[in-house]
Amino acid sequence: MMDLDFDRQHLWHPYSNINTPGSAFPVVSAQGIRLGLEDGTQLIDAMSSWWAAIHGHRHPALMRAAHVQLESLPHVMFGGLTHAPAIDLGRRLLALAPEGMTRVFYADSGSVAVEVAMKMAVQYQRAIGQEEKTGFITPRGGYHGDTWKAMSVCDPETGMHHLFRGALGAAYFVPRPPVRFGGEWPEDEAENGIGALRALLEVHHARIAALILEPVVQGAGGLHFYHPRYLDAARTLCDDYGLLLIHDEIATGFGRTGRLWGSDHAAARPDILCLGKALTGGVMTLSAVLTQEHVARGIGSGQPGMFMHGPTFMANPLACAVACASLDLIAQGAWPGQVSAMEMQMKTELAPARTLPGVKDVRVLGGIGVIEMDHGLSADAAHPLARATGVYLRPFGRNIYAMPPYITGTDDLSRMTAAMIALAKVL
Ligand code: PMP
Repeated sequence: MMDLDFDRQHLWHPYSNINTPGSAFPVVSAQGIRLGLEDGTQLIDAMSSWWAAIHGHRHPALMRAAHVQLESLPHVMFGGLTHAPAIDLGRRLLALAPEGMTRVFYADSGSVAVEVAMKMAVQYQRAIGQEEKTGFITPRGGYHGDTWKAMSVCDPETGMHHLFRGALGAAYFVPRPPVRFGGEWPEDEAENGIGALRALLEVHHARIAALILEPVVQGAGGLHFYHPRYLDAARTLCDDYGLLLIHDEIATGFGRTGRLWGSDHAAARPDILCLGKALTGGVMTLSAVLTQEHVARGIGSGQPGMFMHGPTFMANPLACAVACASLDLIAQGAWPGQVSAMEMQMKTELAPARTLPGVKDVRVLGGIGVIEMDHGLSADAAHPLARATGVYLRPFGRNIYAMPPYITGTDDLSRMTAAMIALAKVL
């Protein structure tokens, strides 16, 4: 049996208090959409393990790719060396990516990808003579990771700004994009949120290197779904004021919103794109930062010319090989049908939650289903019900949500939505 006392006494879990550790289910295996616990209990992973395991766990194609790669080259440094998995993945990424992307930088986690993207923006501005452009602008309600600079562009209230006040570089914040996804887009800029962005840029553009945002879905900042027209208007403003546009598609990428990229709901294309999470189908950690040619060339022609970043495990061959297999599954093209079927089913099955006491909103977009409560929730409080329902859910903020693997069948999806409603009744 696992030594859970050791776990409680010595291991930090994410966002946990070492003095009052919550319970952690001991997982010994994972297959498809199910996690196997030590006592034989099976739990449906409605979280896709933090939104990454889009093909389910241990998909045979991904496992095969890992095994094959393990036999020849699990890892080698990327400085001065290269390998087929990195090249093959780069080719696949650029073929699938939003139009205009030509360069790929591999990093090791989503947060690091955001750090890289932000460093690129500053180095680019320096290179083109815009020394003062070192700041960042972002909508409130965003989430871009837990590392230092990424934290500075997370929502200033729900993020960690107050904990590190004075230590984080300040960012320029505009209100959350106010128009909901699927709503009517008002042309009046005071109503559609673009007025606030324009006003701030008018005053401060000379000090801002880039706008960073999550296209269409603000994920860990509150699962807010907003109107794609915001993306197009933001693109225009970035061009007008000499800012780069960074799309953080770490959560929205690879089909989660019903389109391959969140930005596919709009016309706007980013200068810099961050990918992570589902890149390896949730098997291991890997992220990538893609840029348009002018960004890469700009950095290359400035001082020192080099882009100053290079993680030890950059382009880890094992992760790249698995990511290639995952992108091949994406390219096979079952996902749009799977995601849109999940969307329809979640819309139908979650609708009754609207009338429950304490429920503020119910919303579904692509493979994301959310019941938003009118009060804050404790993730640990959901644990007892997981055993009863057989579904692992980990609410955050005010949201009970599911982001199921795309392979989820209709019966299992019904179990997930029923479990969400059951949680909404007790939390
Ligand atoms: N950006 C977004 C949009 C995310 O959702 C996340 C993770 N939730 C990150 C960045 C950070 O990724 P990681 O946890 O892999 O560092």
